[in-house]
Amino acid sequence: MNASTDHRAELDRIAGAELAALGDASSLNAPRRAKIAQRPMPSQDAGERIRNMDEVALGYTENMARLESLRCLQCPNKPCTEGCPVSIDIPRFVKAISEGDDQRAVSVIKEASLLPSICGRVCPQERQCMKNCTVGKLHKDVGQAVAIGRLERYVADLERERGEISIPDVAPPTGRRVAVVGSGPASLAFAADVRRAGHAVTIFEALHKCGGVLSYGIPEFRLPKAIVAREIENLRAMGVEIRTNFVVGRSRPLAKLLEEDGFDAVFVGSGAGLPKFMGIPGENLVGVFSANEYLTRSNLMKAFDEGRAATPFYHARRVAVLGGGNVAMDAARTALRLGAEKVMLVYRRTEEEMPARAEEVEHAKEEGVEFHVLSNPARILGDENDVVRGLEIVRCELGEPDATGRRSPVPVPGSETTLDADCVVVAIGNTPNPLVPKTTSGLAVDAKGRIVVDANHETSIRNVFAGGDIVLGAATVIKAMGEGRAAARACNARLQSSSPNPESGT
Ligand code: FAD
Ligand code: SF4
Ligand code: SF4
Repeated sequence: MNASTDHRAELDRIAGAELAALGDASSLNAPRRAKIAQRPMPSQDAGERIRNMDEVALGYTENMARLESLRCLQCPNKPCTEGCPVSIDIPRFVKAISEGDDQRAVSVIKEASLLPSICGRVCPQERQCMKNCTVGKLHKDVGQAVAIGRLERYVADLERERGEISIPDVAPPTGRRVAVVGSGPASLAFAADVRRAGHAVTIFEALHKCGGVLSYGIPEFRLPKAIVAREIENLRAMGVEIRTNFVVGRSRPLAKLLEEDGFDAVFVGSGAGLPKFMGIPGENLVGVFSANEYLTRSNLMKAFDEGRAATPFYHARRVAVLGGGNVAMDAARTALRLGAEKVMLVYRRTEEEMPARAEEVEHAKEEGVEFHVLSNPARILGDENDVVRGLEIVRCELGEPDATGRRSPVPVPGSETTLDADCVVVAIGNTPNPLVPKTTSGLAVDAKGRIVVDANHETSIRNVFAGGDIVLGAATVIKAMGEGRAAARACNARLQSSSPNPESGT
């Protein structure tokens, strides 16, 4: 036993004792339910976890999940469900947990979400389902709402650990073929639903591994890659063909998939993987990375596994990460695990405006990331060999709200200071991948480079559908998955009502 497992065992013991004290759970009235305190998530100890890449959150035990589920008031109008982008029937699945029927709980979730183990871990719940929860409102603190995502993760993990995940039934072959560009959550959800209808599905992925941001962006310590790999294995078991190292628009133009290769429809889920830079002096210095490159080296190429992985990583002592979203937190926490002595997060607004999940901010602080808020990076400083040696920042004050409703940072003249740094990671956001639109004539995009779709997720080209970040701009896993499912419904309806592509030979 180490400090982390001790901690989990202790939380389990406390939950068990509280459950026993509550007596017959079925007779608990609403005021008593609302008084039960939220179960904390057992986590690896901060000092321990910065020395490994293992998952930080350890997951609820059975006692914790049962007790947490009893906090739900079973509100008839389901405000929590309204806050979920894919409308999971939350009261119904939480009730099943309170009754000890975890398998029923996971079945209810899967009516709406295909990736509960993943979304239970990474969903920005406090801005979605939890935000609307009546219990949170009673406590006047959204953080005290029913811990919906933790319960979702609990039942989905249990199903996987018990080996109870069944491969969905696939309808008899229709003779129709559908190509999918990319393998992020939008594409995975689309591929599963189209395959279930009996169509042949081929995923074309540019990288050597599938999963999109789930594999190359979100670090192992937040989302174990074995979970992502399992979802992809399930797709293969359903008969989905996967071709990696295949860049649509380079290896083969999208139009040829339809015109010559016999595909009846295409789904574009190519994501928002183009990093933004600040346009400040010094961004070309050695030691400046986009968060995408930095995280991809660590996650996908396993650069942290020195001696065994072929990918080198940049040994840095003092790392400055620019930004305040989940990507910035992931980069900062990765830098610590890669051995940096000091990691500084530089953000223009205050902590209140940070787009990152509150839990990620908390974890970053516990791990020792130093926050420099109201600080705008002005230039990156280099030495005589053009290697980063520092970052000049300007102090800011908050001015009037901008178009996003957040107050704009206004630099204070003469407030420049320098942070000593030998590596700078730019994590200020991503824009849609431009390759597919650029190489596909007639594919309409908006001013921000996002593919334009109609209410059925169909693009300006007939039988070409799109969804996820390439349509929304950088968004969330659950939104991407929801878009993939909606596009699959439209694609299946189209294939049912139209004649096959003559090139498919059927
Ligand atoms: P992606 O996941 O981006 O997948 C697109 C895939 O398409 C990639 O694999 C790419 O290689 C491939 N591709 C691109 N072009 C081509 C081509 N021409 N040919 C073939 N393949 C191609 N969201 C959350 O909800 N919670 C979080 O905690 C969270 N953390 C994040 C952390 C990081 C570091 C990042 C970068 C994002 C995070 N997000 C988070 C956002 C979330 O991951 C994305 O919104 C989501 O993955 C989008 O899914 P997608 O399927 O549209 O695209
Ligand atoms: Fe909440 Fe996300 Fe689960 Fe929906 S998918 S219930 S928003 S955690
Ligand atoms: Fe339960 Fe909260 Fe949903 Fe009400 S709003 S049903 S308390 S999860």
